[in-house]
Amino acid sequence: MHIEILTPAQPAAREWLRKPRHQLLINGQWVDPAGGQYLPTINPATGEVLAQIAAADAGDVDRAVAAARQAFDDGAWRNMVPAARARLLWRIADLIDAHIDELSELETLDQGKALYVGRWAEIPMAAEQFRFFAGMCTKVSGDTIPSSINYQPAGKRIQAYTTKEPVGVVAAITPWNSPLIMHAMKLAPALAAGCTVVLKPAEETSLTALRLAELLVEAGVPAGVVNVVTGLGSVVGAALSAHKQVDKVAFTGSTQTGRAILDGAKGNLKKVTLELGGKSPVVIMPDADLDAAIAGAANAIFFNGGQVCVAGSRLYVHRSIFDKVVGGMADIARTIRLGHGLSPDTQMGPLVSKRQADRVKAYIDQAVADGATLVCGGGQKGPAGTFIEPTIITGADPKSAIVCEEVFGPVVVVAPFDDVAEVVAAANDTEFGLAASVWTQDLSAASRLSADIRAGTVWVNCHSFWDVALPIGGFKQSGWGRESGVGAIENYLEVKTVCMVV
Ligand code: ADP
Repeated sequence: MHIEILTPAQPAAREWLRKPRHQLLINGQWVDPAGGQYLPTINPATGEVLAQIAAADAGDVDRAVAAARQAFDDGAWRNMVPAARARLLWRIADLIDAHIDELSELETLDQGKALYVGRWAEIPMAAEQFRFFAGMCTKVSGDTIPSSINYQPAGKRIQAYTTKEPVGVVAAITPWNSPLIMHAMKLAPALAAGCTVVLKPAEETSLTALRLAELLVEAGVPAGVVNVVTGLGSVVGAALSAHKQVDKVAFTGSTQTGRAILDGAKGNLKKVTLELGGKSPVVIMPDADLDAAIAGAANAIFFNGGQVCVAGSRLYVHRSIFDKVVGGMADIARTIRLGHGLSPDTQMGPLVSKRQADRVKAYIDQAVADGATLVCGGGQKGPAGTFIEPTIITGADPKSAIVCEEVFGPVVVVAPFDDVAEVVAAANDTEFGLAASVWTQDLSAASRLSADIRAGTVWVNCHSFWDVALPIGGFKQSGWGRESGVGAIENYLEVKTVCMVV
């Protein structure tokens, strides 16, 4: 498989990539990491080095946290008039929109994804996060509470109410699958609440975090309110999670790293929200609109190369339509065009790294070695070994790794079922509980399955329908808390009760 080296069409993206090194943003200044170390960031389609990003150490984390602490404690940011903060967030959204082509190209080069994924789905959604939470700035309020306390001094009254205050310094730690939207899902509610932030993007995909940071400065975000510290998760992420001056960690990533973050966070009992792994079931009932269900199930697993936390990686199909659905999915899988994400023909890019592609390939090979059937795909290709063909597997043991563990690639396991009780049990036979979808025209089946499947989101006759207004997050080991939606701002707020005798 030959992959050409392509350059961005946007002059601004080409120009930006000419910078020899990308520094850290600390207290409004672009600075070198104290140890002078940089890491290469690689285009996974070709293996070429795109840029050098700063590899921060614990001392750099201390400097960034001190800047965020100072920007929080001096009060100017958290006490800014809410309407002014709203206008600032709206400005960020407008700047993202104004730079959408450039940002999409940088995301594709760094992450590998087909251009349309960033350009038409993720980056517009990142802008919408800032608009939605801009609207929330002026709606953070508490309650006036009638008190039944009866021991106030004679002639006095009790007046009680709550206020909501920003939680403080937030460490936002984000993954490599959909970088810009992940940063926005944390930055927008944190800033709306009046928190200050240290953002640590994934080491594989830091470019759009750095470009976004420049746009935040351009929008007028004050020095120290957002700091960006790039580098290794085991160094920068670990130091942030354990830092005594950090009040909250907002994390999206693997369940295993989520556990490491909890360990780090326990020292000062910082608040933690976790958006973790998934193994989301897709259920196709016998009465479903099959064309829509087959196309939907294929998109549920192959969109963004399956590197989606809510990917529909377990497909359960009623036995009466099993062969038809598997055949239809395989027809789609075989025609998906793999290629460089910047090429307009490309429907699926490479996975983010050789390491991730090797991991996915090992899952496929193990499943086949254990006796499962490879319906299509299974190959690993490309100059850097990062492309994985869209893969469909049947006949896997329900207790095997390919069925139970998050693969995070374009690989779906398909199994038949005979009745609703059986498929509910199969769908719930997982340690995860992030999302699910159900395909049926039958109202009672839709209602029963959406009630009985234990997952944070259940889609009916659709999958991966995201909206900033809709909460997203997991039951069971898929995480703690919800992002997006009106309630997400509460992750960044503390409730204060004021009780007065007056
Ligand atoms: P993966 O294993 O697929 O790279 P992770 O969940 O480890 O995914 O990565 C998500 C984010 O967590 C990245 O920004 C990564 O650098 C960071 N990270 C990795 N290890 C740790 C750690 N021990 N503590 C905190 N953050 C970490």
